[in-house]
Amino acid sequence: MSIAGSAISGDFAKVCPLVSRRTNLKYGADGTLVVRVRQVEFGGGRPVIIGGPCSVESLDQTLELAHAAKSCGADMLRGGAYKPRTSPHDFQGLGRKGLEILREASLETGLPVVTEVMDPRLVELVGEYADMLQIGSRNMQNYPLLSEVGKFGKPVLLKRGMAASLCEWLGAAEYIAKEGNFQIVLCERGIKAYPSGEYSRFILDLNVIPALEAETFLPVIVDPSHATGVASMVEAASRSALESGCHGLIIEIASERVGAIRPKCDAAQAIGPTALGRIVDFAHSHSAPRLESKACGI
Ligand code: PEP
Ligand code: MN
Repeated sequence: MSIAGSAISGDFAKVCPLVSRRTNLKYGADGTLVVRVRQVEFGGGRPVIIGGPCSVESLDQTLELAHAAKSCGADMLRGGAYKPRTSPHDFQGLGRKGLEILREASLETGLPVVTEVMDPRLVELVGEYADMLQIGSRNMQNYPLLSEVGKFGKPVLLKRGMAASLCEWLGAAEYIAKEGNFQIVLCERGIKAYPSGEYSRFILDLNVIPALEAETFLPVIVDPSHATGVASMVEAASRSALESGCHGLIIEIASERVGAIRPKCDAAQAIGPTALGRIVDFAHSHSAPRLESKACGI
């Protein structure tokens, strides 16, 4: 029986010839393309740790967390200025003001910034402020958006659609690469399957990391925050992800100061800077040598 439109396995050479190792032989059987975001290198041997708030809510909050991330040893700052929320009545992000805050935090700390763009019409604006453009899970198959960030040319963090197969995910990367932009980092952020939502937000699919690395030379990082949705699960998930061979982590943090304002968005999954510091230490002491042997540069 043949099923129209299925892209689950075995179709890689057809779906994504540019980003599949089978057809693009430049990186051999196990080489990794190094994606550079200012001074930061994904796939360069040292795991990259990105920390910051779920959403940019104020200048004070963002500066506090950017400085905290920096002093923990994190490499980059995250934070949403445009937020994909389930309800249109929820906080949608500060928009352009949020981008300006991110720029200030980046200038103060020296940390490059990754932030989400949801709308093809906003790629130029967000791209003017961001060092790396994030495509969120809900937009992994927004093909005009993928083509637009491909044309724009800045590095892209491509999150996995929450129900996407590996083939669909690499097909999304192919849309970006087809425009000549290979500066793509993949991000596993949990998938929706039974029993997601019962004791954790999604299912963290660590098996996909070695599967991806066999299929593509693009670096892959993990988001343990959205994958678990539970702050107390984030540290163990981070360690496990690093042990599974990922090239970095993106983690949501919130202030642990007494009296700090509770985040408007995803508060239950935010860890404090103390836990982030332990994750950074683990990342630097455990994963570097093993990953280093796989990296081969552009
Ligand atoms: C985020 O990282 O801010 C986010 C909304 O994540 P995701 O797209 O994975 O849900
Ligand atoms: Mn979030």
